[in-house]
Amino acid sequence: MEGRMPDLPSHRGIHAGIPPLTLALIYIGAVVLPLALAALLGETHRQVTVQLGAAAGSISAAMILLQMISSGRFEAVSGRIGIDITMAFHKWAAPMALAFALAHVALLIGLPDPDRPNRLARRFATLMTAERLWDARLALILLALLVGLALLRDRLPVRYQIWRGSHALGALALVGLVLAHLVTDGLLGPARAALWTGFAAAVTLPALWVYARRLTRPRSECWTVASLRRVTPRIHEMLLENPHGDSLDFRPGQFVWASVGGQRLPLHDHPFSIASAPGAPQLRLLIQEAGDFTSSLDAVEPGTRVAIDGPHGSFGPSDAPRDGLVLIAGGVGIAPILSMLETFARDGCACRLRFAYAMHDSRDMIPAAMFRPALATLGVTPLLTASRNAGGEIAQGRLGEAQMKLLLDGLDPKRVEVMICGPGPLMTTLTDTLNDLGVPLSHIHYERFSYGSGPLSRKDHRIMAGFATIFAALAAAMALYSLV
Ligand SMILES: Cc1cc2nc3c(=O)[nH]c(=O)nc-3n(C[C@H](O)[C@H](O)[C@H](O)COP(=O)(O)OP(=O)(O)OC[C@H]3O[C@@H](n4cnc5c(N)ncnc54)[C@H](O)[C@@H]3O)c2cc1C
Repeated sequence: MEGRMPDLPSHRGIHAGIPPLTLALIYIGAVVLPLALAALLGETHRQVTVQLGAAAGSISAAMILLQMISSGRFEAVSGRIGIDITMAFHKWAAPMALAFALAHVALLIGLPDPDRPNRLARRFATLMTAERLWDARLALILLALLVGLALLRDRLPVRYQIWRGSHALGALALVGLVLAHLVTDGLLGPARAALWTGFAAAVTLPALWVYARRLTRPRSECWTVASLRRVTPRIHEMLLENPHGDSLDFRPGQFVWASVGGQRLPLHDHPFSIASAPGAPQLRLLIQEAGDFTSSLDAVEPGTRVAIDGPHGSFGPSDAPRDGLVLIAGGVGIAPILSMLETFARDGCACRLRFAYAMHDSRDMIPAAMFRPALATLGVTPLLTASRNAGGEIAQGRLGEAQMKLLLDGLDPKRVEVMICGPGPLMTTLTDTLNDLGVPLSHIHYERFSYGSGPLSRKDHRIMAGFATIFAALAAAMALYSLV
């Protein structure tokens, strides 16, 4: 399981993007900015509930706008925190924006007043029927629909692409409606109207640019399929080459958006981890059959064009000094781990390396010939497990506490870094187990291949607590505004 190489210079490993705390502060600042300007300009209301309602509406609107750039496509913004956390935040910020929008409506209706018993019903009727508020009503319905459909996505009987396309178009329409509501009904002065218009443009144009760039990209930027073969009954190895001899500059562990077959519409791209080492003559993807696209790969011929957008993601070993590096792969999660193994085999690894690979059925493991040469160079013995058809060097069972102890044996758990990639439940269970064995949560990194719901690890709970702090800060800003 172990290999030690002489200390060699570590490979490139500086992540682009903004550090998490700075990013959180920028987010809070951007959401609160329109409120701060309103307070500064004295554009406030006398009634506390109306004042709170206006604040809730402003916060909701800003959160909705910022959803456009928290989609994981902007490495310069989210490259440091990675796509997992970016998408988790995107997922949680949407229902929070809806909650603030509902609070906006409820607070504008106000509290019951015994002296004016009809007031509530009158205000409610105005919000429901006033012609000028059509954009607000539509925006609220659309926001609720987008949130609901995203939460239920895995259970919807529609193709992922259809959901994705409708989500993007719905989000664009929502931004338009929110801006229309703010500018026409928001009783804004010219400075605030200009701020909101600039805000909407600043988030929408980069999001549109990401997709427009994909549509207009010259064909010469496309890669082609050099070969495609099944390496297990359900996993294909796709080797890509660049007709111009260009290589992709990436860090092991990163992924690309691949669009196979000259499809330019960005709805057709899929994220896949790179399974080869940086600088290798061909780019390797390991693709497991999961749905319509991945199950149709047998029809892809060598020479087929593949548009590659990347690299993306922050998954991968850090440059921090460490005692040991533990690499754990489950299922097709072997893809980014293989890239790391091959890179270390070529460039050297400055710490002790351990490797485990688990599969439900050993017949679904990629051929040993694909990882053996790297392990032999590194002097690492793999820990292989399978629940079915184990035998030979593949132990019967799953990865659990006993195996984690084995992987950590002889290492100082506090100075170990762990990379896990595999099914969600495997990653969350092993994260908690390794943490119980003394590995700090900040040293354990994993990459999810699906953003659907699933079990959460202690690390996920910590991240959620960070999100909750951001939302609490926004609620506090809302309360503070009512005191102005
Ligand atoms: C960062 C990352 C790295 C990944 N690396 C690999 C890899 O190396 N090998 C591998 O086999 N799989 C990988 N995946 C998963 C892979 O992207 C999906 O299995 C694939 O896109 C499914 O497409 P489909 O049309 O066959 O199935 P569908 O039925 O369309 O989708 C099945 C599920 O895959 C996910 N998915 C589909 N399309 C997308 C998309 N465009 N963006 C995000 N999620 C999508 C959704 O959760 C969906 O429910 C990775 C996913 C992510 C997020």
